[in-house]
Amino acid sequence: MFCKNCGREVGDNAVICPYCGVQIKEIEKKKQTCSLAVVGFILSFFFSIAGLICSIIARKKCRKENLDGEGFALA
Ligand SMILES: [Zn+2]
Repeated sequence: MFCKNCGREVGDNAVICPYCGVQIKEIEKKKQTCSLAVVGFILSFFFSIAGLICSIIARKKCRKENLDGEGFALA
């Protein structure tokens, strides 16, 4: 992507432009938590098998969409 201020090319993960020092992205941009992973986590307490299946599906989904929720799914 390109810096809005100076127009130079910067990395996609860059928060601040290394050339002019302008903030490009919002620093506090929280990742969307995979809700299905949380559901699987809760379900695993009550229905271990159903929760396990749900967690496996959620884990695959989270990996695919690069969402933050793999920790819940693993649990
Ligand atoms: Zn810049």
